[in-house]
Amino acid sequence: MTLARTLAAGVRGEIVERAPLDRLTTIRLGGPADLLFRPTGTDDLVAALRIFRDQGASPWLLGGGANTLVGDRGVRQPVVQLADGFDGEEWPAEDEVVLGAAVAGMRALRAARKRGLVGPEFLVGIPGTLGGQVAMNAGTRHGEVSSLLVAAEIATADGAGWLPAKELDFGYRRCRLPPGGVVVRARLRLSRGDVAAADAGVQEDLAYRRRTQPWDQPNLGSTFQNPPGDHAGRLLEAAGLKGHRIGGVAFSDRHANFLVNLAPGAARAADAQALVELAMARLHERFGVSLEPEIRRVGEF
Ligand SMILES: Cc1cc2nc3c(=O)[nH]c(=O)nc-3n(C[C@H](O)[C@H](O)[C@H](O)COP(=O)(O)OP(=O)(O)OC[C@H]3O[C@@H](n4cnc5c(N)ncnc54)[C@H](O)[C@@H]3O)c2cc1C
Repeated sequence: MTLARTLAAGVRGEIVERAPLDRLTTIRLGGPADLLFRPTGTDDLVAALRIFRDQGASPWLLGGGANTLVGDRGVRQPVVQLADGFDGEEWPAEDEVVLGAAVAGMRALRAARKRGLVGPEFLVGIPGTLGGQVAMNAGTRHGEVSSLLVAAEIATADGAGWLPAKELDFGYRRCRLPPGGVVVRARLRLSRGDVAAADAGVQEDLAYRRRTQPWDQPNLGSTFQNPPGDHAGRLLEAAGLKGHRIGGVAFSDRHANFLVNLAPGAARAADAQALVELAMARLHERFGVSLEPEIRRVGEF
């Protein structure tokens, strides 16, 4: 029996074979997933993870695809995306909200404001899902997910359970989930504060992004992590890579650390991959800097 049939017989959710992934990523690149699965809820997710384990398949979690580069030849491992069943909101305490992993940062802000609380402002300009933001410890100079997270509910093939944030070993744009772990809910601590000032800060932050980032072109956010004490964007610019183009993809002429898709439909993930390799080699040669990609790559290029 094919994996799709086994899934269909045992779990509830949407199963799509040969699912195009370019439209599920913000840079609009990449080939199809052999199998895309959107579970109805956590029980179905756990059951699916068990099926994958039994069949020796290791699934790839796709959130909002705001940090993911998919290879042109697509993805052989099953791709799992959390959707409608993972958008809940509960209030276990006066200043703590539990949100489903599929929600966007804006939902966290709206939840906070319902109770006159502050905290998740920095999440608003960061595209993607809360699950992806936990996995990446997404953030800005105003804060990162680990500064709000009390605990995350993690699903594996063995079941689902809550892990305190301190057990997730957060670092710069990373965290350590249990092997094969999927974030299904996040418990965030909010605080009392000056809501008007916080709202003004959000507007300022969004205006800054509009001035400095290629918001009107499909892109992938920061391609590389900032090396200690420096900025990847500054170094890429100094190496002459701002605006540098290969095929249909370029390092943005507005922000050198952002890859942009200049030819949606025609550009290839291999062009993006070639730019990543070129940048790493050139910065090493010119400045002795080893760049670490921040983007996640999956599939065959
Ligand atoms: C215009 C733009 C601006 C950006 N600005 C910022 C910024 O200021 N700061 C910042 O930190 N990032 C920024 N990013 C990058 C991106 O928004 C973040 O990395 C975000 O956390 C990605 O979330 P996602 O749901 O899209 O994750 P995806 O790209 O779908 O996945 C990213 C990683 O998380 C894993 N993952 C996703 N969901 C789950 C889950 N539920 N459980 C376990 N693992 C999961 C994936 O397997 C993958 O390894 C920006 C991106 C863009 C396009």
